[in-house]
Amino acid sequence: MSHHLALRYTALTDVGLRRSNNQDSGYASSHLLLLADGMGGAAAGDLASSAAVTVIRRADSGTDDDALDRLSEAVDAANRRLGDLIEADPAVEGMGTTIEAMLWDGQRFAVAHLGDSRAYRLRDGELTQLSTDHTFVQSLVDEGRITPAEARYHPHRSLLLRAMLGRDDLEVDYSWLEPREGDRYLLCSDGLSDMVTDDLIAEALAADSIDVAATELVRLALEGGGADNVTVVIGEMVDARAEADSGLSCADGRPHLVGAAAEAPQPRISAEVDLHDSTASLAVDPEELRYAPRPPSRWRALWWAASILTVLLAIGAAGWLAYQWSQEQYFVSEDDGYVAIYRGVNVDLPLLTLKHLESVTDLDVDDLPSYQRDQIREGIEANSLDDAEQIVDDLRDEAAPESSPTPSPTVPTTTPSTAPAVVTQ
Ligand code: CA
Repeated sequence: MSHHLALRYTALTDVGLRRSNNQDSGYASSHLLLLADGMGGAAAGDLASSAAVTVIRRADSGTDDDALDRLSEAVDAANRRLGDLIEADPAVEGMGTTIEAMLWDGQRFAVAHLGDSRAYRLRDGELTQLSTDHTFVQSLVDEGRITPAEARYHPHRSLLLRAMLGRDDLEVDYSWLEPREGDRYLLCSDGLSDMVTDDLIAEALAADSIDVAATELVRLALEGGGADNVTVVIGEMVDARAEADSGLSCADGRPHLVGAAAEAPQPRISAEVDLHDSTASLAVDPEELRYAPRPPSRWRALWWAASILTVLLAIGAAGWLAYQWSQEQYFVSEDDGYVAIYRGVNVDLPLLTLKHLESVTDLDVDDLPSYQRDQIREGIEANSLDDAEQIVDDLRDEAAPESSPTPSPTVPTTTPSTAPAVVTQ
């Protein structure tokens, strides 16, 4: 019975074998499992994931509000926080984070998913992936163009189609989940799922305790190459009346906070860093210094040039593939107040435009009923150009009579006006 269940929890992270800092953040408590995998450069990804976890974990302090409302409000607040940080320091523009969260209300979990971090459930020995990656390769899998096995080794498997970027177009998957006693839930960053197969994850997750499972999963990721930061947040549904196991790391009831959020990265520009204080600079991670205000050196300029070139090459390769795919898609939206057909997809990737104006109609968006108007502003997807044109025709039928092709002619006023004539000078 679900009302007799309690959540046991643990969280563990490791920087991995090739990265110099940890951009993942994780949090686990008796009511909230949360993970964020930051991106956007070594010294911004940690800020993004840390800020997101710091804001979203506030949903943990329970009120009687609906858990899904509470979670989505916290996610929205985290997104606004990222927007504020970017506005305050344009150097971190483009930073973002994935979000994986499960909020327990005593009966069910409210679940939020965004990006390529994953949620898995282990039930009766069977591992199920609960989340669907918001990635380019997943879209290829969905269309049947590549197999999940091919997606695993695809060179552009880390290209995200959705993430939390501090912008208005935030699009998160929300759902409810009914747990059962004995279920184990795993939230992980791609540093685990890229390195370790589902079979091995299932085996490790079934360990005697969730603490052993967490250690084993991280060990497997490092053994598999440790190419990225690896973070696991695990929850287990137990009988609430059962004796608490004093050997578990959650036995003291205190939340676990790991990764970047535990190190609390601060916004670089606004942070008061005293560069003349040698003890302070020793304590600062060299990666963080890249954002500290200091005179540029030739070495630094070279480093930047190499970094930018690498990024541009990566974007070039990934962008070409995405572009090929996107150019077979259409959607209907607006251009300068008029309904317009676009080729491509209505997705804004950092530094990458995937949409092009195909044609603009004479249909004024303001003449549409408000629901259709909102739809148009968000963009209506179409499977083909014909489909897009059909959508426009349908919209035309919905448009207000003023814009119908046969407007009633304006009748000149013949009755003399009693109002004083307006004289233009
Ligand atoms: Ca990652």
